[in-house]
Amino acid sequence: MQIFAIDLGGTNCRAAIINSDGSIEGRRQRPTPRAAGGPEIAELMARMAAELRADALKITAAGVAVPANVTSDGILRRLPNLPALEGAKLGDLLEQKLAVPVAVENDATAAAIGEAWVGVSSGVENSVLVTLGTGVGGGIFVNGTPLRGLDGGAAKIGHITVEPDGHPCGCGSVGCVEQYASAPALIRLASEQGLEVESARELFELWQAGDEKAAAAFVAIGRYLGIMLGSVVNTLNPEMIIIGGGVSASWDAFIEPLRREIKLRAFPEPAARARVVRSKLGDDAGMIGAARSALVTLLGQ
Ligand SMILES: [Zn+2]
Repeated sequence: MQIFAIDLGGTNCRAAIINSDGSIEGRRQRPTPRAAGGPEIAELMARMAAELRADALKITAAGVAVPANVTSDGILRRLPNLPALEGAKLGDLLEQKLAVPVAVENDATAAAIGEAWVGVSSGVENSVLVTLGTGVGGGIFVNGTPLRGLDGGAAKIGHITVEPDGHPCGCGSVGCVEQYASAPALIRLASEQGLEVESARELFELWQAGDEKAAAAFVAIGRYLGIMLGSVVNTLNPEMIIIGGGVSASWDAFIEPLRREIKLRAFPEPAARARVVRSKLGDDAGMIGAARSALVTLLGQ
């Protein structure tokens, strides 16, 4: 059985055919037209599916990962980077074009599903995934089931407050950890140290060269993440915390302060139990998880 899987990002739309063992068969990537509404996005996805089908691949269902809250009715809400999709029923639109059932999942939840299926948390029933990229996303597994919430709004751990009067956040609150641990936040924290860099990668290279200001910026994001995760450990008592996203490439620079902060703030047994590990599937986690979501929710696999 083969699933057409798509990860709709703010920058790129990535698609692939995923086999029922989680392996990837064919890939496509297109820039995301950021001003496009539901029908246009569904058309783009259908074209990518047609190209993959032309490679003689058959699909039974489709799974889509989106940077949105997905309501139980399949309505997309809260897409600051793709505002024209607000309120769209993307799954229904795509279903009409592909003539197969479509599952739609929040992207970070999809990544957590992917990791739990064939990634680093395979066999782990209670886990928390954090993605560090343009924003800070979260996916939570409780007793083997993804936690979605009544409005598709669960697991938004990137919007846990770490500075009560802190930096304004796109969500409307202030001082969210997303404003202290995302790639743009890292560049801002470096700037506050008097270091002007273009990217998280550039800052990591400075860290590797022994730059003290770069080190201070990474200690800061490690601390902020650890403050947030200490509360998450106290709330959920998970077995594993998985860290993914582009900024996780700087793992060595921030992981010690992060672990130290969890130990400082969470109860001792849950803090000792929660293993903090790197994502195994990387950028493919969302696509693979969207496919798994289709297999489970549509096909009862
Ligand atoms: Zn926020």
